[in-house]
Amino acid sequence: MKELPKEFLKRMQEMLPGEYEDFLQSYEAPRPNGLRVNTGKISCEEFEKIAPFPIQRIPWTKNGYFYPAGEHPARHPYYRAGLYYLQEPSAMAPAAHLPIVPGERVLDLCAAPGGKATELGVKLAGEGLLVANDISTSRARALLRNLELFGIGNVLVTSETPARLAKVFPEYFHKILLDAPCSGEGMFRKDLEAVKAWYPERPKDCAAVQKELLRLAVSMLRPGGLLLYSTCTFAPSENEGIIAAALREFSELALIELPASPGFAKGVPAWGDKNPAMEKCVRLWPHRLAGEGHFMALLKKQWQSAKEEAVGKSRPARPIDGRLEEFFKGCQKSFSIDRIESKGGKVWLLPSGLPKVSGLHILRGGLYLGELKKDRFEPAQPLAMALSAGEYPVTVRFSPRDERLPRYFHGEELPLLEEESQGKKGWALVCAGDFPVGWGKIVRQTLKNKYPAGWRQS
Ligand code: SAM
Repeated sequence: MKELPKEFLKRMQEMLPGEYEDFLQSYEAPRPNGLRVNTGKISCEEFEKIAPFPIQRIPWTKNGYFYPAGEHPARHPYYRAGLYYLQEPSAMAPAAHLPIVPGERVLDLCAAPGGKATELGVKLAGEGLLVANDISTSRARALLRNLELFGIGNVLVTSETPARLAKVFPEYFHKILLDAPCSGEGMFRKDLEAVKAWYPERPKDCAAVQKELLRLAVSMLRPGGLLLYSTCTFAPSENEGIIAAALREFSELALIELPASPGFAKGVPAWGDKNPAMEKCVRLWPHRLAGEGHFMALLKKQWQSAKEEAVGKSRPARPIDGRLEEFFKGCQKSFSIDRIESKGGKVWLLPSGLPKVSGLHILRGGLYLGELKKDRFEPAQPLAMALSAGEYPVTVRFSPRDERLPRYFHGEELPLLEEESQGKKGWALVCAGDFPVGWGKIVRQTLKNKYPAGWRQS
């Protein structure tokens, strides 16, 4: 067993009477590997048919699967097609348990690298707005990449302090996920760094941050809205303790019961003001299910508030550029013209109802479509990832096993067979099987590689 801090073990022994041995045993077991299917691109039924390795359903999500140790799903072209996200199985629970209706405004306050934001974006099905934020800019860049890979365009990706976001978005969101930074006790089996970063007062220090984050999140939630609070730690002070404090402070908040699932345990009233409602929370323990450990609580903001929406209106319509028109003719996906915005030659498709926000550090607002050059439009990688194979008139389909695909991901120019290039020239959507992975340009029997340098395999 890994060296675990003795203060941590002592507390776990107190927390888990009768279960402590099983809990310790779980550290000896191999850790389960999980992937979550991007149902915005493929149904679970279809994925089960084409999965290149054995998979087995994870009981507490509709689209999560275990895969065996020794497999490398991130090396398969389907990963580059955004068909799945690799995620620790218990970490799939929070986004799966925040109900979302397409068209809503959703905030993921601590979103990087996007394990939960990608699922929230899929649940919005292209309608409404996902604001995905992380205080760390480098982590927010990884978040943006994962959202792009998933083909999610109705986003505002920011790297802000929650306090600054709260000033811009008072009572704005229908749904909020607060997957709070925490002492990471649930990551000890998976990640030695989490053990090293732990110290006995860490849960108390984290709790102070979590209380403030939850306060700010509540201020951004519309009356009637739902907020899911989650952590990957076991410490009561960061879980039931935070929820109990929020219920004391905000009388408009109520806990909503999360559905039961095999292996889920209830929250513990004794760890949260002896409030029996704590049983509506869920704890995922590593000795009760095949996951590392998580906590989640679903809160509803009940009162009607007098506050007006203080966020700006959507933008007026603009005429479309001829170069864009030329590129998109024959494209089966229709883009609403009044949501297209260009600045300095770069072109975006804005989410409907994207407010005009100023003063925020924004990494991306909407779907990046590409760039207007002197006499043409050049499509960008996120646009390829947001299309499906049949939506662009010219495609080059490689079998997922074609040896040219890894070369494409390395940025190489590729030879095409006569039947692959026949009657085609110019921009082509490159696909692995039925799934787009990027752009190329057909020149005679050659595919000029347009896979961006920043996305290539090192
Ligand atoms: N939800 C993410 C996912 O599923 O991929 C994981 C989020 S991780 C548990 C917590 C995140 O909170 C980190 O990415 C970290 O950069 C961010 N964070 C740390 N301190 C913060 C703070 N004071 N305010 C907002 N975010 C913070």
